[in-house]
Parts: sequence; structure tokens; C-alpha cells
Amino acid sequence: MTTITFITGANKGLGYETARRLTELGHTVILGARDPRRGTEAASRLGVRFVPVDVTDDESVERAADDIGAHEGRVDTLVNNAGIMGRRAAAEDLTGDDALLVFNTNVLSVVRVTHAFLPLLGKSDAPAVINVSSGLGSFTLTHDPDRVESTVIAPLYPASKSAVTMLTMQYARALPGIRFNAVDPGYTATDLNGRSGPQTLTEGTEAIVALAAEPPAAGTGRFIDRFGPVPW
Ligand code: NAP
Repeated sequence: MTTITFITGANKGLGYETARRLTELGHTVILGARDPRRGTEAASRLGVRFVPVDVTDDESVERAADDIGAHEGRVDTLVNNAGIMGRRAAAEDLTGDDALLVFNTNVLSVVRVTHAFLPLLGKSDAPAVINVSSGLGSFTLTHDPDRVESTVIAPLYPASKSAVTMLTMQYARALPGIRFNAVDPGYTATDLNGRSGPQTLTEGTEAIVALAAEPPAAGTGRFIDRFGPVPW
């Protein structure tokens, strides 16, 4: 039986590369994107189905779940990938609206999409949720002078990713019938960082693909990168 995998924010970057690699591995990938043109183009390049989803919008997320319920009938793997860096500004210039946008897109989205997709995950024999977090949300890594994460000063994005990791751990405890794991892709060249990351897209998707391809017994409540467990 095929694995049905829904990925948010999959029209480009890590989400797109994850969609491409999981399709290659035999998953039935449903490509989620907020912009219909970008989403349709990306999906047709991969030969997969596009479903519109803006992760900041309850109705859009519910429509996406209804659409997949009507077409595929279940979701085995949900990849909460969509995310933004937010406005680049000095800390003293950041506003509540800046925070609202970053936390809505990166954090509330995880709750919104998970909530809407739980019934579809419930129809899977081996349901899994992969939350794309970041090492920038790790308290340990951001205090390790040998790590690039300790050199970044950007209050909102790292704080949002700390919340993504903690949400993952809490969902894992609350819902033991579903595997909830978080991933740090590592600093990867995508539009998110103006393509400044040293890692390739292949390296950046390694841990996401590993979680999506591992057997159900692999466990829940983990935070990993492509080298193994990440301290958080
Ligand atoms: P990216 O190339 O900028 O891709 C981000 C994706 O998220 C795009 O498809 C974007 O769609 C989508 N998105 C943004 N807001 C959305 C919304 N409201 N609804 C639906 N989709 C939305 O960045 P990326 O590097 O691949 O990022 C993917 C994930 O990896 C993010 O969660 C990011 O925080 C995480 N991450 C990245 C790195 C890195 O070094 N690149 C490191 C650690 C973690 P549009 O094209 O419509 O904007």
C-alpha cells in the first residue's frame, strides 16, 4: 500500500525537494502551497497532485483536509514544512504584528494543520507528523560557541522554532498513536536565507526524508538532524 504524504509549503525550497525525493521513493505526494500558480507549476513538474493551503488561514487548511479526505481518503505522513523568516529588522524595531506573522506562519500553523488533519491521520495504519523546526530554536545549540546557531541574533524566528520543537514533544506525549518528530534541516541554501546556507537541498532534506521513510517502530518525540539527535 502506498504512503500518502501531504507537505505544506512544497512549491519550492526544502518542501519541494522533499516532495521530489519522497515521490522518487514511491510515496503518493500531495503538494501543498498557498499560491495556486506556484503550486500547480511545482506539482506538474513532479507529476503529483496540488492542493492549495495557506497555513495561516483556518478555512484554507480545513478545505485542504476536506479535499484530501475526498480524494485520497487518508494521510499517512504530514510534513509541516511551510515557514518564514519574517521581516529583517533590528530587535528594537520589531512589532507585535511582526511577531504575529512569524508565529502564525511557523507555530500556530502546526496546531491548525495538525488539528484539521487528525481525522485523516487517524485513518492511517502508521500515521506520522514531521514538523520542520530548526537548530536556531535549540537552547543548547544557540549557546554553543562552536555552532553557527550561536551567532544569529533574530528574536522572532528562533523563538518560533523553539515553540515548534516543544509542540512536537507535547503532541508526541498527548497522542501516542501518532509519531510526532521534529527535524532541523541545517543551514541550507534556499530563498528563506537569500541562498546563503552552505548545505545543498539534498543535505537539507536528508533528515526529513529519513523520518518519512523510517519504519513505524522508529519512535516518537524526537528532534533530529541529518547526523542524529539534536539537543533542544
Ligand atoms: P523557502 O524556500 O522560503 O520555502 C518556504 C515555503 O513555505 C514556500 O513554499 C512558501 O510559499 C511557504 N509558505 C510560507 N508561508 C506560507 C503560508 N502562509 N502558507 C503556505 N505556505 C507558506 O524556505 P525553506 O528553507 O525551504 O523552508 C522550509 C522550512 O524549513 C521552513 O519551516 C524553515 O523555517 C525550515 N528551515 C530552513 C532552514 C534553511 O536553512 N533553509 C533551516 C532550518 C529550518 P511561497 O513560495 O508562497 O512563499
